[in-house]
Amino acid sequence: MEKDLGCIFCKIVAGELPAAKLYEDDKTLAFMDINPINDGHALIIPKAHRETLFEMDADTLSAVSRTTLKVATAVKEALAPEGLNIFQANGAVAGQTVFHFHFHVLPRNSNDRLKITLHGNPTIDQQDIQQLAENIRQAISVPADQN
Ligand code: 5GP
Ligand code: ZN
Repeated sequence: MEKDLGCIFCKIVAGELPAAKLYEDDKTLAFMDINPINDGHALIIPKAHRETLFEMDADTLSAVSRTTLKVATAVKEALAPEGLNIFQANGAVAGQTVFHFHFHVLPRNSNDRLKITLHGNPTIDQQDIQQLAENIRQAISVPADQN
């Protein structure tokens, strides 16, 4: 299993740091966040050290996604939140503070501690969106009409 010696989450995987574990299998581990935004805030990680989404392979991402679904379903059943977000950050500018890939499971209730405001740009030119889509399509190896 690839491990980064300075990584907190690798230390949790290795049992060198304590954590309130929820679930584990050969590829993934789920545990409670030490500084929860809301009650039931949990983290799901690959056991192998991967810094961000861009170091993940599809199999590992599938395994982490399966565990995330399992944990989110259990949190919903155990705590009955009004809603739930899945959050994942890549890079410090996106809010990543621990550089070992993780999904946050964030139970939500009205007037809770998490504020997410996605204010879009209503004045953007639709031509600009088309151009951005074209740039991204060119970076995807499979054409849109063949997937
Ligand atoms: P990020 O900001 O990278 O998306 O999220 C990192 C999360 O890891 C934070 O919510 C933080 O509270 C949590 N965290 C940091 N150190 C530890 C730790 O030692 N144990 C646990 N369980 N969670 C941690
Ligand atoms: Zn790590």
